[in-house]
Amino acid sequence: MKALSEIFSKLIEKIRGVEYIDEATLQELSREIQRTLLKADVPLDLVKSFTENAVKRIKEEKPPAGIPPREYLIYVLYDELVKLLGGEQTPEFKPVKRPYVVLLLGVEGSGKTTTAAKLAKYLAKRGYKVGLVETDTIRPAAFDQLRQLAERIGVPFYGERDEKDAVEIAKRGVQNFRNMDVVIVDTAGRHRNEEALLQEVKAIYDAVGPDEVMLVIDATVGKLAAAQAEAFMKYLPIHSVIITKMDSTARGGGALAAVAKTGARVKFIGVGEDVDEFEPFHPRKFVARVLGMGDLDALVEKIKAVFEEEEVLEEIESGKLDLLTFKKQIDSLLKLGPLSKVFQLLPGGIAAKISEEQIELSQKNLKKWRAILSSMTREELKNPDVLNASRIRRIALGAGVTPKDVKEMLTVYENLRKMSKTLKRQLRLRMPR
Ligand code: GDP
Repeated sequence: MKALSEIFSKLIEKIRGVEYIDEATLQELSREIQRTLLKADVPLDLVKSFTENAVKRIKEEKPPAGIPPREYLIYVLYDELVKLLGGEQTPEFKPVKRPYVVLLLGVEGSGKTTTAAKLAKYLAKRGYKVGLVETDTIRPAAFDQLRQLAERIGVPFYGERDEKDAVEIAKRGVQNFRNMDVVIVDTAGRHRNEEALLQEVKAIYDAVGPDEVMLVIDATVGKLAAAQAEAFMKYLPIHSVIITKMDSTARGGGALAAVAKTGARVKFIGVGEDVDEFEPFHPRKFVARVLGMGDLDALVEKIKAVFEEEEVLEEIESGKLDLLTFKKQIDSLLKLGPLSKVFQLLPGGIAAKISEEQIELSQKNLKKWRAILSSMTREELKNPDVLNASRIRRIALGAGVTPKDVKEMLTVYENLRKMSKTLKRQLRLRMPR
């Protein structure tokens, strides 16, 4: 990802270099943002809407106190990039049944065979029993390549060197590994008439009924990744995408953005030739890394915490307080840092009335409460009325506390809920502006 990081770090450097942001500077920076995105091969329409959006936000949004406008611009850039690459959610690979059959597709040279081994190793490391099946009947090298890789990573391999019918190999391969957790079926990605390739893949799909179809795309195709994904989608459902060779080109940025726009989910990226150079794709972490700033996390967390705090307070004021809101509130309080600091932000000398011990106690409680709330199901958070003795025991066990602790927290919540009906703006916790 060096290439991609390099072009973005130049942009960040430029932004950091400006004294203040006036109209002319903003114009210049927006042109620089456009140039950077184009270098990453992001499709032109996305570049335009991205830049317009970012500029609009910079003009309209007021940075939270203590955050200089240029830092806020970096935050907006970060935020918009995360959206561009598919948003906050982190797509997970979850083998929900046994065996969980994965069908790998892709054009020749996309890195599919290597990726089959990478995924197998990734899953084996996490305790899954994995089997690899090679169905490429055209390129004998694929058979040897995957067999050798399988041997190296210690995962069983199935292939039939002399069989010409890929569908039959796929069926027997899946049957052979029926007691595994995950079966990864590699398919031929040969460079012939695309139509014929897709027909064969469709036949394998119909024969083995995979649980997840993963499309492998080479990052160097950049924005053309969208057309590639769409071509496959005409034949069969693509559940997820793996982008390979992210290490070798800045165009990977465009590939990710283009795929996100098709609505397909990128689950993994390949970041090198080695079988270990493979990782889940988290847009948030990825963007933070590409922007190449260790201190970005702190900045983002701070800004987010302020926003979340305001959101939560709005929910409380509108009388919508449930345990879910309570949990968000605690999360953002913990993010804002030591409570002693937070209390100083409270209006009207409240801080003076709270002793050190009380603050320390609250700090401890917050952490405990967060653990308790994290052990609850969404249903319980939304509707605390369902909490009976046995649920409370389960929650306490999960959080490593006593049932008494859980009940205490519920009492505090109940009091807060009653109070929230009368709680108005004057109790609003605010960062000083
Ligand atoms: P297939 O034809 O799609 O099965 O592709 P292969 O698995 O044979 O890979 C083609 C080439 O891409 C090989 O030289 C791989 O080492 C290389 N490759 C695969 N994934 C990556 C990656 O994430 N980064 C880099 N740099 N090379 C990769």
